[in-house]
Amino acid sequence: MNRSVNSVDGLSALLERQQQAVVGAGTVSAEVRRERIQQVINMVVAEHKSLVAAMAEDFGGRAESFSLMNDVLGSLGSLKHARDHLEGWLAPQSRTPFAPYDQLGAQAQVMYQPKGSVGIIGTWNAPLFTLLSPLACVLGAGNRAILKPSEITPRTAQAIADAVARHLDPEVVGVVTGGAEVGAVFSAQPFDHLMFTGSTEVGKKIMRAAAENLVPVTLELGGKSPAILSRSADLEESCKRLTLAKGANGGQLCVSPDLLYVPADQLESVIDNLKTLFSGFYPNITDNPDVVPVVNEQHLSRIEGYIEDARIAGARIESSHDDSQVSDVNRRRPLRLVIDPPKQCRIMQEEIFGPALVLLPYDDIADVIQDINSRSNPLALYYFGQDKAELEQVLSQTLSGGVSVNDALIHAAMHEAPFGGVGASGMGHYHGYEGFLEFSHMRTVFTAPEYDPRGEWGMLPPYHDGFQAMMEAQVTAD
Ligand code: NAD
Repeated sequence: MNRSVNSVDGLSALLERQQQAVVGAGTVSAEVRRERIQQVINMVVAEHKSLVAAMAEDFGGRAESFSLMNDVLGSLGSLKHARDHLEGWLAPQSRTPFAPYDQLGAQAQVMYQPKGSVGIIGTWNAPLFTLLSPLACVLGAGNRAILKPSEITPRTAQAIADAVARHLDPEVVGVVTGGAEVGAVFSAQPFDHLMFTGSTEVGKKIMRAAAENLVPVTLELGGKSPAILSRSADLEESCKRLTLAKGANGGQLCVSPDLLYVPADQLESVIDNLKTLFSGFYPNITDNPDVVPVVNEQHLSRIEGYIEDARIAGARIESSHDDSQVSDVNRRRPLRLVIDPPKQCRIMQEEIFGPALVLLPYDDIADVIQDINSRSNPLALYYFGQDKAELEQVLSQTLSGGVSVNDALIHAAMHEAPFGGVGASGMGHYHGYEGFLEFSHMRTVFTAPEYDPRGEWGMLPPYHDGFQAMMEAQVTAD
């Protein structure tokens, strides 16, 4: 029986059922949380072939090995990490009450309680990961969840809905499928928390809708993540790692390098290296299963439009392959390097999210920092180099969601460390302990001492002058 909700009909009833179940169930033990996570793990293991097949079809030929690595193993990693660590996370922490309660035997602790039912909205670029990786922390924190996959990958959305319906209790995890209209209705529901992954523009709409019900939000957004190639870098090795990062998922990753700052006197060498390395990893494009196609015609024309717009504005464009490797019958594309385009070009304003990279020559690292700070805070920042003082300067004078040094993407894949943006690239975190905290309510419980000496100390009304003197005496600067 398909028990998932395949449209908005039934969504509010499902949410109500989940929220009633939250109240009825009381404390959610570590054992129950582990069991729920294990059921999701078992589902992914049992259904991974159909999920991977659906992703391959949705992308028009995404390699199954890539989907296994990115979406299946990425999700399993988060789920197993939460399963194996949640017991330590949820133990209440004792806190010291202030004087004089501390001397009178008062106690205080912080309990980590589930918020209730969490709505999770995912993207198409990592259609399984953006739902199940946050779900790990959501369930680890003792919550229930309703997932909303992206409509841009409809077969995957249906495969997820079918898998969830077959393996999970809808009162614990349900799915609703559909597009932007469904997303709008979804984000207007009185969830106990909303976890959204997607674009900055839609993120604003989610926050607006959530505000109506005072629903707290976690927003995992995108942006133009910069990479800095320092003069101190091993140029060839850095280009290799950048090429691999840019090739991953055809550049369709939220943490994909978008702008590459290159020492001006090394520009030609960097262009040569990037082209040679890319064509080495991907000798041909059109019929190469390792090249992930751009997801659909609309996104392809968006990216091609950015490149064409820059070309018309006078930017130099270099390609890893010649035109014989550009086909009308599929959406696999070579890596295009857009060199120093004018600032008003769309490729300098919009997130590329595809197989292109902007190269910006620089002379002085201070100008790079200034340029980065002239834009919204990016989701990721990359520094390639060995100059520790320069790295410190970059880290201390910029702000981004996360950072990888001498590599790209990797920090975002760590299950042990928080992942999230700042400013226009998002708010809140998931992964690891911080993800557990994000979806928990931190409830302070103060237990008063039996003995209350305030009467003897002259601290109860009617207040005497002595009380005021006692208060005054404590207004000190030390
Ligand atoms: P998107 O914002 O277009 O869509 C994301 C989700 O929001 C989809 O499920 C969609 O159906 C839904 N949606 C669309 N309009 C809506 C509305 N008005 N109200 C409610 N929901 C709505 O993003 P996308 O194209 O799927 O993904 C690409 C973007 O996501 C890029 O900006 C990328 O950087 C970002 N992203 C961020 C992360 C991260 O972890 N920070 C991960 C992947 C992608």
